[in-house]
Amino acid sequence: MNFDSISIRIFLALTGLVVVLLVGAALFGEVQVRNYQQVALRDQLTETADSLLGDSTEVLANRAPAEPFAQRLRDLGRSNGLRITLIAVDGTVVSDSEVTGPMANHGDRPEVLEAQQFGTGSAERRSSTTGKETFYISRRVEGDGAFLGTIRVASEIAPLRSERSRFHTNLALFGLFALGIGAGASFLISRWISKPLERIEQDASELAAGRLDLRVRSEGPAEVRRLANGLNSMSRELRDRLEGMRRARTEIETILASMQEGVVAVDGRERVVLMNEAAARLLGLSAQLGPGATLWEHLRFPELERGLRAVLGGSSAWHGDAVSPNQDGRTLGLSVARVENSEDADKPMAGAVAILSDVTAIRRLEQVRIDFVANVSHELRTPLAAVMGALETLADPEQEAAIRARFLDIGNRNAARLQAIVSDLLDLSSIEAEGDRMPLEPVRADGPLRTAAGALAGAAESKGVRLELPGPLATPAWVRGNSQRLEQVFTNLLENAIKYTPKGGRVIARVRLTPKEVLVDVEDSGMGIPAASLPRIFERFYRVDRSRSRDMGGTGLGLAIVKHVVRAHGGTVSVKSEEGQGTNFTVALPRIPEVPKNS
Ligand code: ADP
Repeated sequence: MNFDSISIRIFLALTGLVVVLLVGAALFGEVQVRNYQQVALRDQLTETADSLLGDSTEVLANRAPAEPFAQRLRDLGRSNGLRITLIAVDGTVVSDSEVTGPMANHGDRPEVLEAQQFGTGSAERRSSTTGKETFYISRRVEGDGAFLGTIRVASEIAPLRSERSRFHTNLALFGLFALGIGAGASFLISRWISKPLERIEQDASELAAGRLDLRVRSEGPAEVRRLANGLNSMSRELRDRLEGMRRARTEIETILASMQEGVVAVDGRERVVLMNEAAARLLGLSAQLGPGATLWEHLRFPELERGLRAVLGGSSAWHGDAVSPNQDGRTLGLSVARVENSEDADKPMAGAVAILSDVTAIRRLEQVRIDFVANVSHELRTPLAAVMGALETLADPEQEAAIRARFLDIGNRNAARLQAIVSDLLDLSSIEAEGDRMPLEPVRADGPLRTAAGALAGAAESKGVRLELPGPLATPAWVRGNSQRLEQVFTNLLENAIKYTPKGGRVIARVRLTPKEVLVDVEDSGMGIPAASLPRIFERFYRVDRSRSRDMGGTGLGLAIVKHVVRAHGGTVSVKSEEGQGTNFTVALPRIPEVPKNS
């Protein structure tokens, strides 16, 4: 039995109360019955003694015969179950309702002595005559103011006892019955009070086990109903908060998942707290590491290790670049920062968070810029030195006319070269600066090519290179373009083709149309480009043969300009070449479907 349970406690308390009340009532009843019996017996005996006082006086004063009185005593005694004794002043028994023969002197009996002294005496003792427990009442018998003797009435106590034991039996039976009723009632009352509490306790246990959608039953007494309502509003509040937290976590996870940058958060013992997909990808892991994973068991990345250790060791932040452990040659930018435990000021620090970003392109661009500045300086230095040398020679008035003429020519050529480089650089930078914002308008697909070819026809002819142009287009096609820049593109391509094609060769330009694109080929039968150089041909200042290009007046910027202009048009430029066989450049530009009416 569970003595902790409220129903058992109530049941035991009520049943205990019933038992205490019953026992109390029984004890009280016992005392009452005993008193009542005593009073009734004493009254009966006194009454009997008093009724015999007159006649006793007569007998003891010898004014009346003894025998009829003795008979009367016997009759009275038999009919009432009493023993009546008349005792003379000297203690001699004059007459006794039960004993007929001679009897011992009764003068020393306590009730007789008491009656002599006070008029009435009583005693409860074992009778030395009958040998039974007896209750005695004695009355002093007087005649004419003189003490004549004592009349004593006695009754056995045994019948009273048996009467009381019957009463006890009845009392016990009633007590058992009342106890049964009391226990039954206690049980019902305890269930009545505890039931709603037990129900609410069950519901609360389910709530505590996480079933927050459960509604606690609101029934029973007012306090229990208030408790149920309180629990319900608490679970509602809890549900809302959990929902809020879940939403916040989902938002964070969604944001982290959509980030390009990798995020790795670790705790003070370098265990993963959080890792997003991008981090797994950048670190070359097949899947994200879950919370609690030990980072270095899955990953070997000394720079990240160093950064996290530095921050966990006390630095506020750490930044650095490292080659990706993915071994794909990418460069990762690492930024590690401390994560302070804002909730608990006693705990010194919660951990560190590392942001990983792919900085390959940025670093490459930075390198390109550095190289570019170096290249520009290098490209300008040679013609500048030549110009300065020429000027120095020319400054000498004693130089011969022929030498002066030669140095004047050198100075002129190098100044022109400087001008060409600077002008190409300016072009390139303004094309780059314009970028997507280059002003574009509908342009005939073959217009810029024909203009450029027209301008170069003379140069081709004087070099002895045949320049072939396409016939008029069957369907006029249009592109969105900047004619001036496109002319520059085709001028550069045709110029190169003529330049790098020996005398007797040919340059063929073609225009092909597809539903979406206009493709312009510039093909020559020249010296071609070695396969190793093809990927670098569009870089600034890149030349297959530096001195030859310089001799031919090239700046090494022509194809870079072509690439940037075509890109600003949303197009592409590609090259195919075989050394000694010739080269074919193809410019692809997006075609616009409708033909403007007024053009
Ligand atoms: P350059 O001013 O030197 O011509 P470009 O950027 O126009 O500079 O060209 C870069 C290099 O590409 C040239 O130096 C040359 O080596 C090579 N090249 C360009 N076009 C051709 C071609 N049609 N045939 C052979 N080589 C070419």
